Amino acid sequence: MSFDLDRLVRNNIRDLKPYSSARSEFKGSAEVFLDANENSFGSPAGNGLNRYPDPLQVRLKKRIADLKGLGVDQIFAGNGSDEAIDLLYRIFCEPARDASIICPPTYGMYEVSAAINNVGVVMIPLTHDFQLNSRAMIDAFSPNTKLIFICSPNNPTGNLMQRQAVIEIIENFDGIVIIDEAYIDFASTPSFTGELQKYPNLVVLQTFSKAWGMAGLRVGTAFASPEIVALLNRVKPPYNISTTAQQILLEALDQKTQIDEWIKISKTEREALRIALLDLDLVQTIYPSDANFILAKVADAVGIYKSLVAKGVVVRDRSNVELCEGCLRITVGTADENRQLIAALRDFGSKLEVSII
Ligand code: PMP
Repeated sequence: MSFDLDRLVRNNIRDLKPYSSARSEFKGSAEVFLDANENSFGSPAGNGLNRYPDPLQVRLKKRIADLKGLGVDQIFAGNGSDEAIDLLYRIFCEPARDASIICPPTYGMYEVSAAINNVGVVMIPLTHDFQLNSRAMIDAFSPNTKLIFICSPNNPTGNLMQRQAVIEIIENFDGIVIIDEAYIDFASTPSFTGELQKYPNLVVLQTFSKAWGMAGLRVGTAFASPEIVALLNRVKPPYNISTTAQQILLEALDQKTQIDEWIKISKTEREALRIALLDLDLVQTIYPSDANFILAKVADAVGIYKSLVAKGVVVRDRSNVELCEGCLRITVGTADENRQLIAALRDFGSKLEVSII
């Protein structure tokens, strides 16, 4: 594999003279700030919100760097990891010419983001046990294939991709391999961030929306080489993470012990939920999960989905997704929520029996 980042980047991005914001031009301390056309009198919301935020989120990234054992220059912070997905397309994929490889069933935004950017998608479905078909993926490489998205643990199937197959793809592809680790905190294997030094074509996505419990805050990260991170920073909107989000996240990062505790409980509840679901006649298969959700094949997915909604319990109907026919994706809830779910399913099951009799 011959990886040449410069060759991969779109010409317009390589030649881009990025926007230089007031806050990036002057970084020192001063008494009077008249450089950014902010409201000099204050903000109705207080908290210094009349001022623009730090465009590169330096304090926040120092904290994330400590937490993840990475350098600040290996970290990009985005408005959710969805922002990083979009930016990667915009940096590397020439519209109407280039393509990405996606392995369905997987997270929907890889395909939607491609469509928004008018970029092609080559679908190489997962095998029947939801693993990468690495041979078919390698056979599909073409000079216009710029990105490969691998989700591990995968949404909606819940499983990790075999490490050796992922490594094989990284080592054989001269474009960018993106490993989406949104659910890695619930898995028992280490993150691919440990491989970043070795592989300059690797990008690892993580998010504060799942284990960290801040889906509403909208902060996700991309970990990569300093060169790829610099490209992401050039293309992002200047102030993509609000002051409020930066402050709240900085404080929340001190709560690692609480997060670890929730992760532990989630894993215990996942196992309890798996056993309780398997006990129900209407559940046919429970797929192994390293995430905070379970994919379950059931007797009548749409019927069960509707009946649950009527009882105020919402799960995700994945029954029209290829390889997930008949499946519901169920987020692991609190012990009480899981009990309500099981009770509602039992109720549906008993009515089904009565109607069959
Ligand atoms: N990747 C995966 C696999 C996801 O499931 C999700 C959200 N459901 C995301 C990324 C997006 O996360 P964020 O909230 O950080 O945009």
